[in-house]
Order: sequence, then C-alpha cells, then structure tokens
Amino acid sequence: MIAVQTNVKVLYVEDEPGARDMLTRLLKRRIRDVKVAKNGQEALELFMAFRPDIVITDIKMPFLNGLELIRHIRAIDEHVQIIITTAYDDNDFFIRAIEYGVNHFILKPIDHEKFLQSLQHSIYQRQLELELEKQKQYTRTIIDFQENLICILNEERLLDCNLSFQRFFGKEQMEQLRAGRTHVCDYFLHEPGYFYMKGERRWIRPLIDRTIPFLKVKLMCNRGEEHVFLVKATSFPDEQESYLVVFTDITALEEESKRNEFLATKDPLTKTFNRLKFDEFFTREIQRAKRYKHTFSIILFDIDHFKKVNDTYGHDVGDAVLVRMCEAISNRLRDCDIFARWGGEEFIILAPATSRTGAYRLAESLRHLVETVHFPKVGHITCSFGVCEYEQGMTKEQMVKRADEALYEAKREGRNRVVVNE
Ligand code: GH3
Ligand code: MG
Ligand code: MG
Repeated sequence: MIAVQTNVKVLYVEDEPGARDMLTRLLKRRIRDVKVAKNGQEALELFMAFRPDIVITDIKMPFLNGLELIRHIRAIDEHVQIIITTAYDDNDFFIRAIEYGVNHFILKPIDHEKFLQSLQHSIYQRQLELELEKQKQYTRTIIDFQENLICILNEERLLDCNLSFQRFFGKEQMEQLRAGRTHVCDYFLHEPGYFYMKGERRWIRPLIDRTIPFLKVKLMCNRGEEHVFLVKATSFPDEQESYLVVFTDITALEEESKRNEFLATKDPLTKTFNRLKFDEFFTREIQRAKRYKHTFSIILFDIDHFKKVNDTYGHDVGDAVLVRMCEAISNRLRDCDIFARWGGEEFIILAPATSRTGAYRLAESLRHLVETVHFPKVGHITCSFGVCEYEQGMTKEQMVKRADEALYEAKREGRNRVVVNE
C-alpha cells in the first residue's frame, strides 16, 4: 500500500470511461495531484500545462494514439516516468514503446497489485531524480555564490565554470574558451612577478602535485581592469584528467602590499630609493664585490646653490625641481643602477660593475643632463659630483667618506663638475 503522495504529479490518459473511472479512483486514493485526460490530444495539452512526474497512458485512443503521445512527451521531457496500459502483446509494439522510453507496461485487464507496484517504482525513481536535481542545484548555488572564479578544466579545455568566472571573462572570451579556441592560461598577462605561460602547457600539474602551493597570476577582465589572482587546483577522485581550478582575487591585498613596499623603500617626494633601502643594496654589492672580485662605484651628488632656489621661488618650487631632476636622471640610468636620496638635495647612485672611469663618464653625462634640463620658473640648475670606486677591503662608510671628499672638492673647485677620489 502506497502512502498518499503529495509531491508527485500524475497524468492519467484513458478513453474508455469505465476503466478510466476505476483507475482514477485507485490513483486519487494514493496521489494527491492527479489529472485525467480522455484522449491523446487532451493529454498532450494537459502535459504542457501541468508538467507531471508520471504519465500513465492507454495506447489505443482516438485523435492521438498512446505511442504518438509518448513520442511527443519524450521530445519535451526525457525524465518523466511513463507507464502504459495496453491490451496489445505483440513484440513490434513493445520494441517501439521501449525505443520511445516507456518505463513500465501494464497489460489489460489491469491487475491492481501489479499496477500499484509499477506506480510505486516510478514514484521512487522520480523522487531519486528530484533529489539528485536538488543536490545539483545546491552545489550550483554554492559555486555561483562564490566570488572566486571557479572552473573545471579537462587538461586545458574548459568544461564548466561559475558565474563569477563568466562575468570576469565576458561573453566573447567565454565563447572562445568554451569552443576550445583559447585556454585560460592564454589570458595570463606577461609581467614580472606573475606566472605566465612560456611555451610549455603544463601549469596545473605542479599545483595538483603540490610541488608549488599556488600561482600568482594577473588577468585582465572584460572591462579592461587588471586583477591579481592566487590560483589553486585539485584533481577529482577517480578522474585524472579533470581539475578544479580556483582563482582568488587578491588585487586589493597586492595593492596594499605594493603601497607598503613603496613606503618602506622609496622617498615619497622624488620616488627614488630611501637611504634604508640604499643601504641594503650597498651591503649586498660590497659582499658580492668581495666574493667575486667584482668592482662597482658610487656617485654622490648635490645641487649647487639650492638654498637660493628655495629662497627665491619658495619651497614648493624647490620641491618641483627635485622631482623633475630625479625623473630626468632615473630615465638616463640603467635598470641595474640604484638611485637613492641621500638626504636634502643630495643623492647617491650605486653603479654595479662600473670602474671609476665608467662612473666618471656616467657622472659627466648626468652633470650635462641636469645642466640642460629646463625647470619651470627656475630655469637651469647645476650639480656637483663625487665619485668613488670600490677597492678590496673597503667598508661602506669608507666609500661614502671618499665620495663625499670628492664632492667637497668639486664644490670647492667651483661646482658643476665631477671629481673622482683616486
Ligand atoms: P651648495 O652649492 O654648497 O650645495 O649650496 P646649497 O645652497 O645647495 O647648500 P645648502 O646645504 O646650504 O642648502 C641646501 C638646501 O636644500 C637647504 C634646504 O632648505 C634645501 N632642501 C633640502 N631638502 C629639501 C627639500 O626636500 N625640498 C626643498 N624645497 N628644499 C630642500
Ligand atoms: Mg647643495
Ligand atoms: Mg647639501
């Protein structure tokens, strides 16, 4: 005996009034939601409006026969359970019915016990499916609720992804990805400090194997903003080629860390390194020079008569001169040169792998550069330079002292010149 079912909907189709009334009564005692149709045509209309979980239908009916009805229904819904009641028992008919995806056959005259067993079975099957569907929806909601970009890749191919992922990449890139014309890794921006593909196509494996804990990548969203992500990946049990890949947006953290790094290492006015950071580079360079018998030089320089600039045009104009001069010098230097504010209007440059001759030439070119720059309101300024090359055994303090002596000499000899401490 089936308990009264409240959560399944049944559509019953029968053209013969006597049989119909009896089975309807039998059904209504067990199923709360039963709709009854008198022929195939009516049944199809009811099916569309009512969307039942189970269809019980006679085969021989006017207007639209049972098999045709089933064919139509299957084209619309592949999950609905279909039970047919039939007086036919020839093989051709059964084969066609099976092809159309009929779940149970009940031969007429109907044995109530067998009928109820089939019905019970269909209800159970339907409930399992509904439960599974609900679970899927829960999972989908959880995944779509995530701000993280989540995707499932098979090797490199995109199989599935959440809403955040779709929103980030936008319609056009999603089409490319879905069609397999592009891969997620193709969108990693090439930038130092971030992972990007250099020819090889194996970036997930090391994440799965935990050879590396995560990757840091930069991606551009479809609105053109750059975002930094931490990427983690895991494989699925029993499925070696598919991976779950999660991108966590760390743009805000990354910016804050950059800001902190800037504050800790740079002079806020001129954006050159501060003395603390310079000292770090200087220590490292001395150690390398000692160990590998490299040479390097430092150049200390100071603006000539800068007090007069401040006194004449004010402190703000003086500041602007410092900023503009540092920009010009930074642009002239090599990437490996370290340029720092030593204090006030005095700056220092560490030139790796540079002898005193090279450093002299560099300082001369900078002296000339400063002399030729036009500063708004102020016009032209000059600087004096003191150069010192590293010699084995020297300390940082000794080097700075020698550079300072050379700078003093340059000032004494009339300014706007370079002096090398020999
Ligand atoms: P000299 O040629 O001998 O170097 O002359 P000078 O006037 O440049 O030398 P002095 O050391 O007497 O003066 C340096 C001036 O630099 C004094 C100070 O007000 C100015 N100065 C230092 N730091 C800053 C700054 O951050 N902004 C501005 N506007 N001026 C600064
Ligand atoms: Mg000065
Ligand atoms: Mg000074």
